[in-house]
Amino acid sequence: MSPSIKRIPSDEQLPSAADVVVIGGGIVGATAAYFLTRRGLSVALVEKGYIGCEQSSRNWGWCRQQNRDARELPLSGVALRLWDELTAEIGRDLGFRRCGLLYATDDPTQLNEWERWRDTARAFNINTKMLSSTEAAATIPVNGRRWLGGVHSVDDGKAEPALAAPMIAEGARDRGATIHQDCAARGLEITNGAVTGVMTEKGFIRANAVLCAAGAWASAFCRRHGIRFPQASVRQTALRTRPTSNIGEAIYTPDCALTRRIDGSYTLAVSGTATLEFTPQGLRYWRPFLPMFLKRLKAVQIGIGKSFFVGPETLGSWAFDKPSPFERTRVLDPKPRSSSVAAILERVRMRFPALAEVEVDHVWGGYVDCTPDAVPVISNLEAVRGFVLAAGCSGHGFGLGPGVGRLAADLVANDTPCVDPTPFRLSRLLDGSKVVVGAI
Ligand SMILES: Cc1cc2nc3c(=O)[nH]c(=O)nc-3n(C[C@H](O)[C@H](O)[C@H](O)COP(=O)(O)OP(=O)(O)OC[C@H]3O[C@@H](n4cnc5c(N)ncnc54)[C@H](O)[C@@H]3O)c2cc1C
Repeated sequence: MSPSIKRIPSDEQLPSAADVVVIGGGIVGATAAYFLTRRGLSVALVEKGYIGCEQSSRNWGWCRQQNRDARELPLSGVALRLWDELTAEIGRDLGFRRCGLLYATDDPTQLNEWERWRDTARAFNINTKMLSSTEAAATIPVNGRRWLGGVHSVDDGKAEPALAAPMIAEGARDRGATIHQDCAARGLEITNGAVTGVMTEKGFIRANAVLCAAGAWASAFCRRHGIRFPQASVRQTALRTRPTSNIGEAIYTPDCALTRRIDGSYTLAVSGTATLEFTPQGLRYWRPFLPMFLKRLKAVQIGIGKSFFVGPETLGSWAFDKPSPFERTRVLDPKPRSSSVAAILERVRMRFPALAEVEVDHVWGGYVDCTPDAVPVISNLEAVRGFVLAAGCSGHGFGLGPGVGRLAADLVANDTPCVDPTPFRLSRLLDGSKVVVGAI
């Protein structure tokens, strides 16, 4: 079952030409479309399902700098600033609140990692505060566990996954973008090594610039054009409660993570557990992913399921004048794990007395698209001039999304980039550079 999300209408007429076609209406594609229109460019945003239908509506909503890899921190600083600005500029509520995030643990290894990250925080001037055992207990009181300590990441916050991508897409439309849902991009028209248009299921759009913000489908789209993009997805489960007692805005504990939604319900999930399914694409890219797999061995369960035969990680080809795999799976909506749902509920009801009677509204699964080093790719693609890739946000791209979209828009428009794009170039994953696995 897909999580509930604000649905927005499509524009009826597919334009015959645009300055830029953005493929994919998640948080990255929607914000990129917004920033491109802000530069006065005409933009057509094409989405095979509906805006926000995949990862961007299935996440917890955390917008954080805390515990990020240093390579992402300049961009995450930009992203947090943009969350503030977008809310003001678009004039619609994205649910963004700088409420701070609270973490507590009784695991000494985890606490050490948080303590070590303080050096990174200092280098980037990030406002984060370690909590003593007593402070953690006062901030996150639970039954049956004693915290060794915790963290309060003061300037971080959360946004509303049911609102953010659709409302930012509406902001792009206010500035002239057209939005086309149920409209898969099947492939690029390439002339003399440069992109000259996009074949969609609803017709052809002439364009000399194309951004692929296709989330978990980006590698498949690139592969159809001979471009290698090592990408793999893991499956996670989350649930939303009915509106209930307020025990805090955003809380992480080893048992569960809780995020309060704007209607007073909670998103509940367990961090650090995921299912990695065997797929043809996974077999193709097993080697670059080996360091990540070994690092996360304990957190990952291996499975085999439908994703071997349908969805983004199969390896078949397709013609541009016939229905493509993107239309066959309009919305990637994996089954939630019922055992995870039961475990989350049991822990939340047991640990937080105020939530002992909490009721489930709905549950969902979601694929998290990852790169081998857990850092996104935001990159011009040398193989095809005018083609830019922004994907592989590796489980933390919702909060980073406005930054990813902004940097992608800078690259598309050939403007001064908002941060140094070097850490995000695709070639790092292909040229034999050492893979340094970042934080998820
Ligand atoms: C359970 C869960 C919890 C998470 N928690 C957090 C969190 O708390 N904080 C955080 O920062 N991140 C979190 N994430 C990660 C975050 O959701 C993603 O990194 C982010 O949403 C990725 O955005 P995106 O726009 O790249 O991809 P998506 O949101 O997946 O968007 C890609 C879109 O492209 C469309 N598309 C694909 N191919 C085509 C095509 N050929 N033509 C047209 N359209 C196409 C798809 O339909 C899709 O809508 C979580 C993810 C999950 C699943």
